[in-house]
Amino acid sequence: MAEQPKKTLGLETVEPALTPPPAEQEPAIQKNPVRPGTTRKRDIPQGLWTKCPECEEMIFDKELEENLKVCPHCTHHFPTTAHARITSLTERGSFEEFDTDMTSVDTLEFTGTAAYADKLVKHSEKTGLKDAVVTGIGRIGAHQAGLAVMDFNFLGGSMGSVVGEKITRIVEAATERRLPAIIISSSGGARMYEGMFSLMQLAKTSAAIAYHGRQKLPYISVLTHPTTAGVMASYASLGDLIVSEPKAMIGFAGPRVIKDTTQSELPEGFQTAEFLIERGLIDAIIPRTELKKRLSEYLDYLCSDPD
Ligand SMILES: [Zn+2]
Repeated sequence: MAEQPKKTLGLETVEPALTPPPAEQEPAIQKNPVRPGTTRKRDIPQGLWTKCPECEEMIFDKELEENLKVCPHCTHHFPTTAHARITSLTERGSFEEFDTDMTSVDTLEFTGTAAYADKLVKHSEKTGLKDAVVTGIGRIGAHQAGLAVMDFNFLGGSMGSVVGEKITRIVEAATERRLPAIIISSSGGARMYEGMFSLMQLAKTSAAIAYHGRQKLPYISVLTHPTTAGVMASYASLGDLIVSEPKAMIGFAGPRVIKDTTQSELPEGFQTAEFLIERGLIDAIIPRTELKKRLSEYLDYLCSDPD
C-alpha cells in the first residue's frame, strides 16, 4: 500500500517520507539511514501504535481499541479479551456476572515442564481472570441472554472443570429463566492438566445445552479464532445458529494428525470459517464490529416474546 503520512503526537520530528535530506545535511552519525520510500520507525513511542500483521499498516492503539481490535485498514481481527467482548456486546450496566470466585483445583497434582498450580497463578495474575471463561446474564438490544465468553489469554482458553461448570451453570440459569443462551468460544480444547476431568466437561455442557433446546429455547454459538478440539467437539458446534468471526481457525485435530490418520492430502484452508461456511458447518461469518447488531436481530427472530 502507498505510504500514508503518519499521525504524530507532537513528539516526533516531521520527516519527509519520500525525499531524504541532501547528503551534506545529514548528521555525522546516523545509525539507521532512511532509504527513499520508507519512514523511520524507531521514533514511534512504544505502546502507542500497533503494526497490523496482515496489512502491515501502523494503527494508533486508541483507534484499534475503539474499533474493537479490528484493523481499520484491512479488517484483520486481533485477539481480544472476554471483558472487552462483553462490554462491546451488552447494554451498558446490564451485565451481571455469575460464579465470579470459582477457581480451578489441581486435583491431579500435575507436574510437567511447569506445574499446573503455578500456571494457574501465573495466568490469573497476567489476565486478572480466575479462569478461561466469564459468564453472566446481560442485555443485548431488547433481549436478556445468558452469556459465556471464553478468553484465550488464560491458558489458551482451555476447558477444565471450571470452564465446563461455569458454562453449564449459565446455560441452566438461562433455561430456568427462559432466556436464550450465547457462548463465544476461543479455545485450544480440553485442559490436559486436568486429565479426564476436563474431558467430562464435554458431556456435561452438551447435556445442559440439549436440555435447554428441549425447553424450546435458542442457543447461539459464536466461534472466534481459534476454536478447536474438545470445545469444538462439544458446545461450540451445538448451536441452533453457529456463527464465526472472519478467518477464524476452526477444527478438531491439527492438520498433521488428520493427514497421518486419513493418509490423504488436505484441501488448503480447510480449517477456516470461510471454508466451513461453504460446506454448511457454520451459518454466517460476522465481523466483530457488526456482532452486537446481528445477535440482537437473531434474538428478535428467535425469541417470540421479547422482554
Ligand atoms: Zn490491517
